[in-house]
Amino acid sequence: MALDYNLNETQKQLAATARKIAEEHMKPVRQQYDEEETFPWDIVKVLGASGLCGAYIPREYGGGGMGVFELVLIVEELSRVDGGIALCLAGSALGAYPILLGGSSDQKAKYLPSIARGEKLAAFALTEHEAGSDATALRTSAEKQGDSYVLNGTKCFITNGGEAEIYSVMVVTDKTKGARGISAFVVEKDTPGFTFGKKERKLGIRASATRELIFENCRVPAANLIGKEGMGLIWALRTFDSTRPGVAAQALGIATGALEEAVSYARTRIQFGEAITSKQAIQHMLADMATEVEAARALLYATARMIDATKQRTTRESAMAKLYASDVAVRVTTKAIQIFGGRGYMHDYPVEKMMRDAKITQIYEGTSEIQRNEIALALIKEAAAKA
Ligand SMILES: Cc1cc2nc3c(=O)[nH]c(=O)nc-3n(C[C@H](O)[C@H](O)[C@H](O)COP(=O)(O)OP(=O)(O)OC[C@H]3O[C@@H](n4cnc5c(N)ncnc54)[C@H](O)[C@@H]3O)c2cc1C
Repeated sequence: MALDYNLNETQKQLAATARKIAEEHMKPVRQQYDEEETFPWDIVKVLGASGLCGAYIPREYGGGGMGVFELVLIVEELSRVDGGIALCLAGSALGAYPILLGGSSDQKAKYLPSIARGEKLAAFALTEHEAGSDATALRTSAEKQGDSYVLNGTKCFITNGGEAEIYSVMVVTDKTKGARGISAFVVEKDTPGFTFGKKERKLGIRASATRELIFENCRVPAANLIGKEGMGLIWALRTFDSTRPGVAAQALGIATGALEEAVSYARTRIQFGEAITSKQAIQHMLADMATEVEAARALLYATARMIDATKQRTTRESAMAKLYASDVAVRVTTKAIQIFGGRGYMHDYPVEKMMRDAKITQIYEGTSEIQRNEIALALIKEAAAKA
């Protein structure tokens, strides 16, 4: 029997809907979409029609009025079948959060309803070639000219890039002010001067589009500034507090899927005249995998509930949930391949893809090293405040 996390009826229903969509619509195509790098627009439509794309968006903007916990439940269930396809929804949430957290009521009314319905996807654009872990090194700039800002520069590795219609873009508006000189804008796909560059070919999550965004004298109305000038990095970091648990959910879902595949395979694989589940070495691997998956889930669910219940920053807890779940996902998927033996290494079985998909969760929205830095910083600050 699994641990009971006391989900209410709505949460159980959401998770069940996500599981059904994953099993019925994602499982049959996951291998093909991975091989062909197909963006899953057909699945976006199904997710949109089911109300899952907007679960975390307030009702007044066309969403389900729920929070990070419900988003986590959905992403976990989708990722249990395919962590790459799930990213169409999770990446859109990442793009929507700066608007949700810092946008004006006009911006929210303009952009959130179509994201909630899954008609449009959002994307989040922080990273540049010279600014990865160090977001203060951004070079893409926005210069105010009358009632608009003119953007110039290139973003790289942007999830949903080229597919999304709505981009939350962090740029430098005052290079003399460092972190406080960064501002966030909503940029719409068809804005003149906004084009797409290299589409990345990747180890995993290959159904997800990862692309460069190029801004060349791209004129954006001043009304598209999110909050005030200088608030861009704050919206980005606050976004991460709410969305790193989404990456943890992706990792947890992938690990759960791999564990299930490993148990099921081990029960039927006969060697030395009996199922390999009779071997203690296999049993111990499964036991460790199950224990780690459950620990990741407990930490993640507690974190997501805390985020929904507090107005305080949850940087440390969100970082812990992501750090732990992503490490678990890499360990568990690697062990799943070991349990499958040679077959685990082959494309014909799902676990090699799960391992490839798991790896990204240790890298994006801050690498595991950056999560550790954040956790340690919070600990040290807390100790200093008490001293
Ligand atoms: C598939 C994919 C999708 C992505 N999607 C998005 C997206 O939608 N939007 C977006 O803005 N970005 C996105 N990214 C970018 C991603 O967030 C960055 O790749 C990530 O933050 C790391 O930056 P970097 O690649 O420049 O690595 P670097 O910052 O160059 O890091 C290289 C290594 O140095 C380590 N390191 C760097 N600084 C420190 C430090 N201070 N302490 C300890 N170790 C350190 C890192 O942990 C890493 O091991 C995506 C990336 C990928 C691969």
